[in-house]
Amino acid sequence: MSKYYNAQRNQRVYIPGSNQPFKLSRSKIDAFVKCPRCFYIDVRLGTSQPPGYPFTLNVAVDELLKKEFDLHRAKKIAHPMMQTYGIDAIPYEHKDLDKWRANFTGVQYLHEPTKFLITGAVDDVWVNPQGELIVVDYKATSKASAPSLEGDLGAQYIRQMEVYQWLLKNNGFKVSSRGYFVYLNGKKDAAAFDGKLEFDVSILPADGETAWIEPTLEKIKATLENNKIPTWHEECDYCAYYRARGKHEAEVSSKKPPKANGALF
Ligand code: SF4
Repeated sequence: MSKYYNAQRNQRVYIPGSNQPFKLSRSKIDAFVKCPRCFYIDVRLGTSQPPGYPFTLNVAVDELLKKEFDLHRAKKIAHPMMQTYGIDAIPYEHKDLDKWRANFTGVQYLHEPTKFLITGAVDDVWVNPQGELIVVDYKATSKASAPSLEGDLGAQYIRQMEVYQWLLKNNGFKVSSRGYFVYLNGKKDAAAFDGKLEFDVSILPADGETAWIEPTLEKIKATLENNKIPTWHEECDYCAYYRARGKHEAEVSSKKPPKANGALF
């Protein structure tokens, strides 16, 4: 059995017609935006996609950045990096910050119309002189070009930030629409490795808007209440593979049993 994948690991499926709060993480909202079919098979039918493999280097970078900003949080002063980028803010201190950062709790809000309990774990929160909270996400990568928020991945990161902004607003905080991504880019052009990986650090700003979130929650609700599995989308390589594979398997099994040596073809 795979040590990473258990097809039945998602036992907590959505029950249509139930009026009980149902926990929905911001990553599940994003899964729905990317493909309602895979989302449905996971959340309604209980079979999720295999997980992404653990990115231990990214986790280590997140931890180091958290510690670094926490030192300045304790002193109630800006990190020099924030000053370099002209960001008029300091790391925010709040009794619930550790909970907001923890994966299994995160910032939570019960959206009454759908009864979804929305959760999302933030990397960091800063605060500006107007008392507005600023959502901050840490990212680690290693590429030759400067990090940017272009393309599908950038759009996904911004959606992630917007859900955190929406969650904090619904918890009664004033929230700035401006958020930041603290990006560490592993340097591949260093003269020697010397047992050390060096990073360039940059801070990328992004302006979020949260108007899409409530209509999306309504769509998720309608999808989960429906007994019909949503359709796939043509440009997904995995579904093209599943369909081609299913077709071959159906053809082979409708002809004759596999050979004695177990070979199918
Ligand atoms: S198109 Fe198919 S494999 Fe791709 S994400 Fe959707 S359901 Fe999953």
